[in-house]
Amino acid sequence: MAWFAREKPGMEDGTPDAEKRIRTEGLWLKCESCGQIIWKKALDENLQCCPKCEFHFRIDARARLGMLFDAGYEEFDAGMTSCDPLRLDDAYRDKLAIAREATHLSDALLSASGALDGRPVHICAMEWKFMGGSMGAVVGEKLTRAVERAIETRAPLVIVSASGGARMQEGTISLMQLAKISAALMRLDETRVPYISVLTDPTSGGVTASFAMLGDLNIAEPGALIGFAGPRVIEQTIRQKLPEGFQRSEFLLEHGFLDAVVKRSEMKAYISRTLRFFCD
Ligand SMILES: [Zn+2]
Repeated sequence: MAWFAREKPGMEDGTPDAEKRIRTEGLWLKCESCGQIIWKKALDENLQCCPKCEFHFRIDARARLGMLFDAGYEEFDAGMTSCDPLRLDDAYRDKLAIAREATHLSDALLSASGALDGRPVHICAMEWKFMGGSMGAVVGEKLTRAVERAIETRAPLVIVSASGGARMQEGTISLMQLAKISAALMRLDETRVPYISVLTDPTSGGVTASFAMLGDLNIAEPGALIGFAGPRVIEQTIRQKLPEGFQRSEFLLEHGFLDAVVKRSEMKAYISRTLRFFCD
């Protein structure tokens, strides 16, 4: 996200440039897709989608829950933190501390229950800003508990992904989460409680390779990058140029990897309709 600041060099009244600049800073930003300068308030009113080209900017987990729940929700396992299972040096613990401070979250996932169009649901949303939404033991445990709550209460589950994949700093323990969550989702499937996976920009690695692609419905926001390995790695491996739009939602829908691409403004209504179809 590129911030746009109006700069006026050579102030005559002697006010430092930095002070003059501060007033307009953050009010405008440039769309990553169409390059238009957008008033930030217009973006806020449009669910963080460009009013000119509908480019979907990334939003945080808290905003996502606010968008999907009717009003208010009960949060679960909010204080669960990583204990640095591999006993790495301080680097990982420092990274966690920085991420906690920046996001006000204990790890890369919010787990909550509430109502969506009056229907009780469990919704989990990943936080990209927390170490790239990486999945370690905490994300795995919180998701598994959410699945178990969905089984217990027989209320549908929605997981909104935004992740670079497994968390390197937790090594094989992060990879174990793929199997753990997938096994829990199998039990959810056996109880015939629906699970809807919402893939947002970006969803990749171990998250794509497990729960993000295991929904009864897998739906994505427009233009989201979704894949397992990055395009450069694939090109080097298969020694071929990849087609235009490869690993974007629309391409994946066309090739049968997704069930639907749904605009952010229509996401809640779409999920609501889907749950009515599955549950009533
Ligand atoms: Zn735009």
